[in-house]
Amino acid sequence: MSSSPDITFAGGELDRATALRDDPAALRAELQSSTARFVPLWRGQCLIQNAAASYFVAEQLTPGEAESGNPILLGRRDEHCLFALNLDPETEPGVRAGQHFEELRHVMGELPAGDAALVAYARAMLNWHARHAHCGVCGAPNQSQAGGFVMACTREGCGHRSFPRLDPAVIVLVHAGDACLLGRQPDWPDDRFSTIAGFVEPGEGLEDAVRREVHEETNIRVGACRYFASQPWPFPAALMIGFHGAAQSREIHLNDGELAAARWVTRQEIADRAITLPPRTSVAFRLIESWFDEGNVSLRELGIEGPPLKLRR
Ligand SMILES: [Zn+2]
Repeated sequence: MSSSPDITFAGGELDRATALRDDPAALRAELQSSTARFVPLWRGQCLIQNAAASYFVAEQLTPGEAESGNPILLGRRDEHCLFALNLDPETEPGVRAGQHFEELRHVMGELPAGDAALVAYARAMLNWHARHAHCGVCGAPNQSQAGGFVMACTREGCGHRSFPRLDPAVIVLVHAGDACLLGRQPDWPDDRFSTIAGFVEPGEGLEDAVRREVHEETNIRVGACRYFASQPWPFPAALMIGFHGAAQSREIHLNDGELAAARWVTRQEIADRAITLPPRTSVAFRLIESWFDEGNVSLRELGIEGPPLKLRR
């Protein structure tokens, strides 16, 4: 099993330059430097050029955007400091020739891996800012600090500080001998199946969440769990945490009605292409692949890659 499976949005190699967050003077100098690059989001869409992430330079920003304190420090790549920037949704942005805005879900499978990770990171940070304009304790306006990694309440006597939020979710491939447990969501085509997933609840360990979700959705009891890999999922703030789980029972019942169907799928059925697998650079696909490949033949050898991670409609 590969220790670093190819999973979209994970494995970004950006230097996050965390020391800069606590150095306001150096941060301001980087922000005003001609080498600064801005990763913009406009109406939730990212800036693309030639099937890669693209950037604004300082001249493309309005004075309001440049001075608002809104840019969030993402880190350093080559000689550039990179900042995430949310553009005014009411104003058409001034793009350069070849640049255009597109929904991340539509292009994430086409971007170079480092770009996909960068844009997902920018999107997650901007999502968090958009949802934390006000203090969660007293309701007063928040102010961005520490390069955007703290949202601090501006009301004297409160001063509550919020930090970037992640919603952990478990995603699990349950297996029993030569079969694995896959489910189909109600809005999917009849032959599309994937792993079981759900959000972790307060008071749960990750393995507890795995066992609860699988039981709620399929009635299957899971014993031993083994961590596999994770995937940032910034729609808006999830972290998908992948596990393999060993089944202790076989009888499926859709307890909570969340899935339209669930079934045991054998290696032979997968080899025969009886179902459509999840997109190839998702952690779901990699979970299925790593289990399948413990059999006699690998998915790669069979030429089964899963559909591209491309959700363009
Ligand atoms: Zn407050």
